[in-house]
Amino acid sequence: MKIILGNPKSKKRLLVLAGVHGNEYTPCIVLNNIMQNESIISLLREQYKSITFIYNVNNDGLKNNTREYTAIDLNRIYQYDFSLIDKIKDLVKESTHIIDLHSSPHCGNFILINQTDTANSYVEYAINNGLNYLIYNQYSTLTIKHQSQLLNKISVTFEMNGIDFVNFNNVKSAQIELEKLITTFHTIKIAKEEPKYKPQTMINAVQDGIYYVNQFNELNCLTLGNVRHTYKVLDDNDYIATYPIKGYYTTGEMVLLVQKHNNI
Ligand SMILES: [Zn+2]
Repeated sequence: MKIILGNPKSKKRLLVLAGVHGNEYTPCIVLNNIMQNESIISLLREQYKSITFIYNVNNDGLKNNTREYTAIDLNRIYQYDFSLIDKIKDLVKESTHIIDLHSSPHCGNFILINQTDTANSYVEYAINNGLNYLIYNQYSTLTIKHQSQLLNKISVTFEMNGIDFVNFNNVKSAQIELEKLITTFHTIKIAKEEPKYKPQTMINAVQDGIYYVNQFNELNCLTLGNVRHTYKVLDDNDYIATYPIKGYYTTGEMVLLVQKHNNI
């Protein structure tokens, strides 16, 4: 853990977490790079009273390449009670702004927004700052993000590509997006209102076959009868949050998770 003191006049306190899930190594590398970027750190010191980085929350999971910490999902901690968890809860309580870094297989770099009464504010913040986002309505209420929002914290999950090992191209592309997020996060204003933006769209296999996305963002399926089908399921500004995680899908299985473009 590293705590950096910033502007004593600010009331904002930033907490950034990486490695909550032990098999998600990309966030650890990206966060380490951010911590070494002096211009970002000095910008954060102007905006926040303190900046706390926890760069390897789940030490045990990171060593063993397991998502959990001794069989416990640390991103569901609000149902448990033990010392490591209590420490995270205390840090959350002291903070005003929280960024929790995660990674998934075959996904883009985006802010994951729960479809709650504060979702509109996060969506508009993302659009205004050119950040990719996915609004999700099948979220767990036990996550650090959700629980900290219930405590009136400003809190996001940032997803990046790659679990189990680190690929440098994933690090580079995630870092570009995270820099945009971390340097503008203090500007976000939260209002509670009825969610008005459309949440995620799941695109499912319409027949059995080998699926992939081509260079025109078209979904293709090659059947084992060697017939290729092309589906124009995406509009120009739609954002693919997760790509196929395997080759062969049977009818009805989800192939892509997409955020349809939202007009303000
Ligand atoms: Zn995760």
